[in-house]
Amino acid sequence: MALLDVENLKIYYFTQEGPVKAVDDVSFSVNEDETLGLIGESGCGKTTAVFAILRFVTPPGRIVGGKIVFEGRDIITLSDEEMRLLRGKGIAMVFQGAQSALNPVMTVGKQISEVILEHESITKEEAWEKAKKQLELVGIGSARAKNYPHEFSGGMKQRVMVAIATACNPGLLIMDEPVTGLDVIVQRQLLTLTNDLRAKMHLPIIFITHDLSVIAETCDRVAVMYAGKIVEQGNTVSLYKDPMHPYSKALIRSYPSVKGEKRELKSIPGAPPRLINPPSGCRFHPRCEYAMDICRTEEPPLENRNNGRLVACHLIK
Ligand code: SF4
Repeated sequence: MALLDVENLKIYYFTQEGPVKAVDDVSFSVNEDETLGLIGESGCGKTTAVFAILRFVTPPGRIVGGKIVFEGRDIITLSDEEMRLLRGKGIAMVFQGAQSALNPVMTVGKQISEVILEHESITKEEAWEKAKKQLELVGIGSARAKNYPHEFSGGMKQRVMVAIATACNPGLLIMDEPVTGLDVIVQRQLLTLTNDLRAKMHLPIIFITHDLSVIAETCDRVAVMYAGKIVEQGNTVSLYKDPMHPYSKALIRSYPSVKGEKRELKSIPGAPPRLINPPSGCRFHPRCEYAMDICRTEEPPLENRNNGRLVACHLIK
């Protein structure tokens, strides 16, 4: 059994214009000691999907269908108290934008200690010592525990976020666009730190990004999302080398290859659809260069096509 099983998840935002189908029948799983990447353009539903795993979806958003089973328990049915205990200890998250996620008037050591005290029966002094160890673990050094967030650079703040998220040894870590907005050198340092922590702590991770190179560096498997649906899922190396879905191909063509041959970059024509009234049939059809008549009327199912690769496309048999 997988550590996390998300089955047929549906999350809609109920607006005056009608329901926005932000996540529409999405299924994926994460196994022990595995990193899964969720990739897609902004607004494709990847952050909404992982917010549901921590039950952070708030009105007008609502989970309207599906199951989220973590360590054998359906998260959707847990009580608020059970969820409070699960967050941070069972599943932890590094949020996008460390600047706004950290408390500006509390030292970073105190912010780490508070999470530890929430979940462990230890004294404040013991929690403080553990917080200092966490700072060492993420390469900041315990001497900085008494510093405030404004005394750190953007990359160091992101490391503090990782220290907070891993303080209670969670069973699953979710990282939401952790390197967005950082310069490439700091990005590389953070990705190296993530890979080191994963190796040391055997930490399963869900990594959300729109950057394929980040997925290639960190993830075992990848799920490509488009307009609230998963359109392709499989082993990262194989999908990166041989994408099958036209959207995955277009995504890869739109990013520069750092190690491979020089190639012309091509942007994906058009824009992602509004999810209040998504296109009929295959949601990618208005932008797809291979679209056929059937694509406009029938939604392609996500099916196993080759070597465990799941693809939703009428073109692929
Ligand atoms: Fe393109 Fe049709 Fe495949 Fe959709 S189902 S990706 S429109 S070929």
